[in-house]
Amino acid sequence: MPSELPPADPAFGWRWDPSYARLPEGFHRRVAPTPVSAPRWGLFNRPLAESLGLRAESLDQPGHAEYFTGNRLFAGSEPIAQAYAGHQFGNLTRLGDGRAILLGEHLDPATRRWDIQLKGPGLTPYSRGGDGRAALGPMLREYLISEAMHALGIPTTRSLAVALTGEPVFREETLPGAVLTRVAASHLRVGTFELFSALGDVQALKTLADYALRRHFPERADGPHPGKALLEAVVERQSALVAQWMRVGFVHGVVNTDNVAVSGETLDYGPCAFLDAYDPSTVFSSIDRQGRYAFGNQPKITSWNLARFAEALLPILAPDEAGAIEVAQACLESFPARFRRDWLAAYRGKLGLVTEEDGDAGLIEELLAWMHATEADFTRTFRRLRPDAAPEATVATDSAAPDTRFLDWHRRWTHRLERQGLPLPRVLDAMSRHNPVIIPRNHAVQAALDAASQRQDWAPFHALLTALQTPYREDGAPESLSQPPPPGTPRCRTFCGT
Ligand code: AMP
Ligand code: MG
Repeated sequence: MPSELPPADPAFGWRWDPSYARLPEGFHRRVAPTPVSAPRWGLFNRPLAESLGLRAESLDQPGHAEYFTGNRLFAGSEPIAQAYAGHQFGNLTRLGDGRAILLGEHLDPATRRWDIQLKGPGLTPYSRGGDGRAALGPMLREYLISEAMHALGIPTTRSLAVALTGEPVFREETLPGAVLTRVAASHLRVGTFELFSALGDVQALKTLADYALRRHFPERADGPHPGKALLEAVVERQSALVAQWMRVGFVHGVVNTDNVAVSGETLDYGPCAFLDAYDPSTVFSSIDRQGRYAFGNQPKITSWNLARFAEALLPILAPDEAGAIEVAQACLESFPARFRRDWLAAYRGKLGLVTEEDGDAGLIEELLAWMHATEADFTRTFRRLRPDAAPEATVATDSAAPDTRFLDWHRRWTHRLERQGLPLPRVLDAMSRHNPVIIPRNHAVQAALDAASQRQDWAPFHALLTALQTPYREDGAPESLSQPPPPGTPRCRTFCGT
């Protein structure tokens, strides 16, 4: 990866430096966005543009909707669609960017490399039966939730802009079309490796592994075993990522291997949502009938996805097959213990624990079991826990009196905190950094998306987006976002027909 900054384009500050496009044929195809009839301005993320070293004030002009639908290309952009495959609900399928186009890679002032991708800009060679388009509602959802995840401190792709196409898209109903501009450390997926593995192209696998190591794990790129180094690095990143999802109650919804980023960023916000009441079997996606991607199943399915990654890498893990299987197995077997450590670290933080005791996992699990049994609100229960207040004041089922099970748990927790000996303000500080006040509550998200996409009323969307920028702050948190949904609110269903 070259680390010298190319000159910035004087108009907008882009520093294009395509590296993926330089990989051999078979990795991508040159493609142009399909112009739309009436580009209109939707959203622009100024703070993100500034952090990327772009000329935010020049970009943030309604007249520039043309660039963010793909009607006009930024000077220096050489768009491509990327090839990949993926296990979708367990079945390997040949895919590729069917409705996404990579405009290029931009180097920020710190020489960090970012993919700049349009999502929804029209047909590509990989569109299969699709239309290459996206509807406004789902693109707003991705914008909102990805920015919320970022503010929560969770690795994620970012959203730079949403532009409207002025054209309808046809799903179960006719919807306004839109294009999202996504910013990612890369769009390399587990499925990218699966493509070349399925094709039996070992040279391409080597090229890709070397590329991924140099791009995301340069400190591991020059060792003697690049395949193993990459596998280990991705196992570590995925473990850390999913532990963070579990910390905030995030359900991705479609963790197919084509949606698992090698960088360790949360990728592809489709039928995703956050837990209200704690229930590990929660599924929001209307197509996930088996609960494959249920909240509590995310660690297990991540382990399954990593096994697919290891399989794809087998030809480059060791010189001989037996050796390769040994490397793959050792690495995969490390996942459960590693995840347990990451998960425990996250949940110890939620309970204000900075030391480690053997009984901690049990303490956490008992609280979760009580929350499950009482249908306690996940976010609010953790946020309201206080070791210095009477347990009655902390239970989250605001109406119900705490039962003996909770009182007993609370006593054990406060004893555990006493043994740790950390001053109360520091305990509370740790807790407030691990337990958000505000999450993108499903009913609020839906109301904001409906207002914007059905009634052109953007006020609720902007209010929600603003509130989600400071998720750990108690002051100013709108009640509607820190409270569970009103009784009788039907459980949110999100659709994959995005
Ligand atoms: P997703 O479920 O969004 O991760 O998409 C899975 C695959 O289907 C990817 O290869 C997408 O590019 C492709 N895809 C999804 N929607 C469309 C569409 N409307 N047109 C073409 N391809 C699509
Ligand atoms: Mg996808």
